[in-house]
Amino acid sequence: MGADADADADADAKRHGAGATLVRAILCGLTLTPLLRWAVVHHSVPADQVWRRTCVQCSIPLGPRGDLRALSPLARCGNCRSRLGPPPWSLEVVTAMSIAALVWYGPTGLPLAGYLWWAAVGIVLAFVDLAVRRLPARLSYAAVAGLLSVLWADAQLGQVWQPWTRSVAGSLITAAALAASALVMPRMVHWGDVRYGLAVGAAAAWSGWLTLYAAVFLATLVAALVGLGLLLLRRASLTTYLPQGPFLYGGTLLAVLLTAMAEHGP
Ligand SMILES: [Zn+2]
Repeated sequence: MGADADADADADAKRHGAGATLVRAILCGLTLTPLLRWAVVHHSVPADQVWRRTCVQCSIPLGPRGDLRALSPLARCGNCRSRLGPPPWSLEVVTAMSIAALVWYGPTGLPLAGYLWWAAVGIVLAFVDLAVRRLPARLSYAAVAGLLSVLWADAQLGQVWQPWTRSVAGSLITAAALAASALVMPRMVHWGDVRYGLAVGAAAAWSGWLTLYAAVFLATLVAALVGLGLLLLRRASLTTYLPQGPFLYGGTLLAVLLTAMAEHGP
């Protein structure tokens, strides 16, 4: 009886500790969302233009050294009040949900740090893709380089290399498969998707080959359902290009979380 009560109290204390960690992680993440907002605004320009540094309407400088009010969740220029960047609160909600899911269900230790970096860059890429239908190469490379570096450090510390080599192989295989799709269906798959495929493949394959398969399956399935929905609502035609970044990010995150839940229980 006594031992049972102790175990229950232990489990309660653990849950309480995990809850406090989760709240702290979300609050830390929310302090970084102005930076993510800035990264989205900065990169949301057509491929042939220089990165944005000023408000489109009133030309006031934006960014960490410019008008900070433009980086609040209200998504408006502080000077001329015109709409700017991702819709109000959208990026903040997606960031908080991603952090909560990764901290609660995802990997622990160094790999968690790697996945949080991967998620932060992935969220920026998803919103840039929605805004201007492109995935800037520098962001995709930053996502995969950051993740693989942290996972490499983790492998080095524990001297367990299999997940890391699988991650590198998965990264290359995913990019190669997307490159083949881009050659066959240039309207559906862009070269930006191929470069982001490096980051998506690395994140999914570290968990396992099945996770990589699930990530691609989930991303494709949700993209197809959304495409079908838009067709039925007559908001799109068969030739409309659907940005793949948000689906690749969401599908991979979901696959990684489902794998972790299957291994450790919810
Ligand atoms: Zn303005």
